[in-house]
Amino acid sequence: MAVLLFFVAHWYLSLFTQTFFQHRYAAHRMFTMSPLMERVFFVLTYLAQGSSFMSPRAYALLHRMHHAYSDTAQDPHSPHHSTNAFVMMWKTRTTYQDCIKGTSVAAQRFAGDYPEWISLEDFAHSAYSRLAWGLVYVLFYINFATAWWQYLLLPIHLMMGAVHGAIVNWAGHKYGYQNFDNHDKSRNSLVFDFLTGGELFQNNHHKLPSRVNFGVKKWEVDPSYPIIWTLDRLGIIQLKTPKSAVEGVAA
Ligand SMILES: [Zn+2]
Ligand SMILES: [Zn+2]
Repeated sequence: MAVLLFFVAHWYLSLFTQTFFQHRYAAHRMFTMSPLMERVFFVLTYLAQGSSFMSPRAYALLHRMHHAYSDTAQDPHSPHHSTNAFVMMWKTRTTYQDCIKGTSVAAQRFAGDYPEWISLEDFAHSAYSRLAWGLVYVLFYINFATAWWQYLLLPIHLMMGAVHGAIVNWAGHKYGYQNFDNHDKSRNSLVFDFLTGGELFQNNHHKLPSRVNFGVKKWEVDPSYPIIWTLDRLGIIQLKTPKSAVEGVAA
């Protein structure tokens, strides 16, 4: 039971920090926050993502390329230009590494306007940090696992960010329905995205990339949006003007 609770908590905390901090804040600038809150969320994102932490800067570069080149040969992760999800994720990893090292020429036009904390990012990317998190996950399982099959979940903890990315990037451009013609293959895969915190509304999001609520139709539920709305009401973050943040700006 403890192992399953740990798995569910890690899944959703890692997911929320990714969609909230790296995607909606770093890549799209849908809201602002004070420098202090930015540091707080940087640390929370590192703690939640652990061994699969992604630099918000490199994420933003990679993701802005995805929006600009969606489902073309220059898209860093289109399922329509990869033979399977593993090939697509390896390509994503290579582009991400190039963004980290600053060697991606294609990413240069998307540079700037994202949060950075070089020392934390360097530490989080180090083998020391990744191995330490791996050890934390393994020790938790050794202490609390009650059946052998629970250990099958362990590799997912180690690659949590990549697993979420594979689901969203593959399914979100391949399976589901379309509300808009975005001249790409983006899809809305679920009407209540309980699996990836709203990220599977790719068709809506490519049409309205500044809209903080990824659900557009009345019956589409983006579970991260009420949390972000609450953070705004509490004064922890500041959503941008209703026009750009809530109504969205067409791509
Ligand atoms: Zn997409
Ligand atoms: Zn996006």
